[in-house]
Amino acid sequence: MADFHETVFLGGGLSCLAAAAGFRGDGLVLEAEARPGGLCRSERLEGFTFDRTGHLLHLRHPRTRGLVEELLGANRVERTRDTWVHSHGVTTRYPFQSNFHGLPTEVAVECLLGVIEAHVRAARRGRHGGARPPEPTRFDRWVLERFGPGVARHFMFPYNRKLWTVPPGRLTTEWLGRFVPRPELGEVIRGALSDRPSEAGYNARFLYPRRGGIEALVRALARRVPRLHCGARVVDIDLRARRLRLADGTQLGFGRLVSAVPLPALVRMCHPLPDGVRAAGRALRWSSVYNLNLGVRERGERRHWVYVPEERFALYRFGYASNFSPAVAPEGWAAVYTEVAFDPRRPPALGDLRARVLRDLVALGVIRSLRDVRVECPLVLEHAYAIYDRARSAAVARALGHFRRREIVPIGRYGRWEYSSMEDALIQGLEAADLLNNTK
Ligand SMILES: Cc1cc2nc3c(=O)[nH]c(=O)nc-3n(C[C@H](O)[C@H](O)[C@H](O)COP(=O)(O)OP(=O)(O)OC[C@H]3O[C@@H](n4cnc5c(N)ncnc54)[C@H](O)[C@@H]3O)c2cc1C
Repeated sequence: MADFHETVFLGGGLSCLAAAAGFRGDGLVLEAEARPGGLCRSERLEGFTFDRTGHLLHLRHPRTRGLVEELLGANRVERTRDTWVHSHGVTTRYPFQSNFHGLPTEVAVECLLGVIEAHVRAARRGRHGGARPPEPTRFDRWVLERFGPGVARHFMFPYNRKLWTVPPGRLTTEWLGRFVPRPELGEVIRGALSDRPSEAGYNARFLYPRRGGIEALVRALARRVPRLHCGARVVDIDLRARRLRLADGTQLGFGRLVSAVPLPALVRMCHPLPDGVRAAGRALRWSSVYNLNLGVRERGERRHWVYVPEERFALYRFGYASNFSPAVAPEGWAAVYTEVAFDPRRPPALGDLRARVLRDLVALGVIRSLRDVRVECPLVLEHAYAIYDRARSAAVARALGHFRRREIVPIGRYGRWEYSSMEDALIQGLEAADLLNNTK
């Protein structure tokens, strides 16, 4: 490793790998772990391949679709989502808010009435002319206004409380974007009266590697990166001297940085920084995910994944990775992933969590007993969801603004501290490369 690089990429996840692969200059990627990929690494165990929970490629942009197809070549499958919600002892189609068919009658009626009343209220406001009142910016109020109390009570509130680990009243609506489908009333009524597959939402179709789990994408991308140094954890960045230090004491000079390091950690390792930027870093909150992956006896299951809103279950979602691609499990076995979110400031005892997840899986009919489990692969995702509370937006703007002015370009889900996807990571990496190539 040379003593100076004009451009240093912090983190060897998808975003910085895409940036470094597209960059045509003197660049170096520093990755803390033993191999690149970040959240898109896959673990191999006794013939199973386990991702860090479900990692599916939902591609909206031709540029990223082209890149992914080129990288994976024939090593890819494309699927139509087969996704469900488990509540009240039954399994109904996703998204919950447009599929009340199959729910206990009283629950379905409560949900449908709420949606109809919400539509009537909105139509009335529209008819009275004048300026439309702004949509609520608090998530709980938005849900009640948009879907009514039934959907709030039976899905949106409990599910999002489990996913984000904070009450829905603490969340803003800034993350909703494409992630929460808003069905038309006709669609909701059809979904209450009949059982039919729904194409709603951003993730109706997805790509996935045929072999190798999602890490196959990382491996193909990393081959295009000229200089990638793994086992290189950056611990200190002197912004004035433009020098950084690794955990092993190695020092390195740089001109510009592109960083996928989680924003609060980047703030902690940089100096000097104004107090306001330090305070912004301290204001950011996140949730972690305990991801227990299992190799279990195959039972003819065809679904891809299932949302589990009820509080009595610890997990908020589970899925069958071997239904994305059968190559991730040996013949006769299924690869299952489960997700439980927790507040990293109050980490749970992982042994207890494991026991709860296994109980959940028996209750949900995924396994009959522990005898159906051949292997376990527990993983903890320290940074999983950047929490969209009321402090987030101003704090992120303050920190990102400061770094950008000092030629540090934060990218990726954690660099920008946002709710975004692998495709967004690739786009941001490609855009960072364009920017660097045009301003050498
Ligand atoms: C539970 C969950 C499920 C998801 N499912 C999907 C899905 O189905 N589809 C989808 O499109 N997206 C999904 N995502 C999002 C997707 O994982 C991310 O958008 C994407 O992986 C972000 O890539 P990245 O390179 O920005 O960050 P990361 O993957 O986090 O990579 C950052 C890298 O930086 C390294 N690093 C950190 N600190 C340092 C340091 N100090 N020094 C050196 N290196 C450092 C890390 O080791 C890591 O390798 C999911 C995310 C989660 C949490």
